[in-house]
Amino acid sequence: MKIAVIGAGYAGMAAAYDLIRAGHEVVLYEAGEKTGGLAQGFKEAHWDWSVEAYYHHWFASDEYVLGLIEELGLADKVRFPRPYTVLYHKGEWYPFDSIFQALKFPGLGWGIDKIRFGLVGLYLRLTENWRPLEKTTVDAWMRKWAGDRVYEAMWEPMLKGKFGPHYQDVNMAWMWARIHARTSRLGTYEGGFQAFADQFADTLKDMGLVLHLSTPVSHISQDLTVQSTRGEEAFERVLVTTSPQLLSRLVPELPDQYHQGLRGLKSMGAMVLTLSLERQLSPQGYYWYNIPKEKGFPFLAVVEHTNFLSPDYFGGDHIVYCGDYLVPDHEYFDLPKEEILSIYLQGLARINPDFDANWVKNTWLYRTRYAQPVPELNHSQNIPDLRTPLPGLYFASMSQVYPWDRGTNFAVEIGRRAADLILSD
Ligand SMILES: Cc1cc2nc3c(=O)[nH]c(=O)nc-3n(C[C@H](O)[C@H](O)[C@H](O)COP(=O)(O)OP(=O)(O)OC[C@H]3O[C@@H](n4cnc5c(N)ncnc54)[C@H](O)[C@@H]3O)c2cc1C
Repeated sequence: MKIAVIGAGYAGMAAAYDLIRAGHEVVLYEAGEKTGGLAQGFKEAHWDWSVEAYYHHWFASDEYVLGLIEELGLADKVRFPRPYTVLYHKGEWYPFDSIFQALKFPGLGWGIDKIRFGLVGLYLRLTENWRPLEKTTVDAWMRKWAGDRVYEAMWEPMLKGKFGPHYQDVNMAWMWARIHARTSRLGTYEGGFQAFADQFADTLKDMGLVLHLSTPVSHISQDLTVQSTRGEEAFERVLVTTSPQLLSRLVPELPDQYHQGLRGLKSMGAMVLTLSLERQLSPQGYYWYNIPKEKGFPFLAVVEHTNFLSPDYFGGDHIVYCGDYLVPDHEYFDLPKEEILSIYLQGLARINPDFDANWVKNTWLYRTRYAQPVPELNHSQNIPDLRTPLPGLYFASMSQVYPWDRGTNFAVEIGRRAADLILSD
């Protein structure tokens, strides 16, 4: 068969891999200049490694993406350095990535709250039964079982930062998935995530993939003709891996009810300002600052990449990501980079009082209006099937990996699941 895959992120590339191996002819369309999608990277001339457009790492439990890397014979390029994650409490930062550190964290007091925090975490790690949890919100479940104080100290700031006005709508299965599946060990790829995407794309091309970069698709017709900036091409199967809203625009011939389902799926956008600095930002060498925006910070996370990886990979530069999640129509999506920079520079002085704007060598701003699906109550009933109502058209996106939280690991899983479905159909 002749199959089109739209989007060269992890889902699209993983699907293309299985479809080519099964002997089919695959054309991969990508709107951007490179592969990797949201997990792409960029590089300055004097850096050996790339930096991710949006900070990225793998968890030790990411079996699908790490399994794929192993299949490709690239496992020796995955690295798991030892970074430090910190939480804020009354103006101070406290390491928080081991049970011992959790016990010492003053934000949870010394009594019953610590026990409740521990028991809730243990329950969520052990139980496999997430379905009843999607019938209640994180807000309600945590208040009931962890208690108001624990919830307000530990999870509420993260939920507010990540989901903004939707934070009280997020269902508890989403939180279960994060606590159940994630590890404190964090991994990356030698050369950066872009190095992996490039090597994967080269392998696919060697296997016969036709890859069209900088080629946005604008329409897919009922007879599976794909219209792009290269013109029209007919296919027997098409797999779309973009946002639900874009699928709806690309294929107007889909039934109305399906369009409504796609457009009804809520999500948050994201913005990451990356800085290269002359000096280290974090005085203690911390990697990941979890930040309570409600305490007046302009961002949700500050991630000093070079406290995870040596600055030597980046020509001695210190790399800092400042990230935030925003509603898709937030004014920040249209503000010039200089204005975002001036807002964010003020926040950095709260991480290190000695921080000086003169330390900044260069800055990069990445923004996407589709970054984090919002799973509301009983979300499993809202997820579009991988088979769309249009025969031969398939859809695999971040919005469908639920109950798991979006990530490259589950993008690989859903991409391969879609390929499997296409093959079995
Ligand atoms: C701030 C942030 C931090 C993250 N951190 C992590 C992390 O630490 N670890 C992790 O594993 N994951 C992380 N993720 C999530 C991860 O990036 C995504 O889950 C994953 O990359 C999704 O892959 P995908 O293939 O489903 O979609 P995408 O990567 O979005 O790929 C879709 C592709 O389709 C292309 N496209 C769009 N429109 C068209 C068109 N009209 N024609 C052709 N092509 C088109 C896009 O350019 C894109 O390349 C993070 C995401 C964000 C935003």
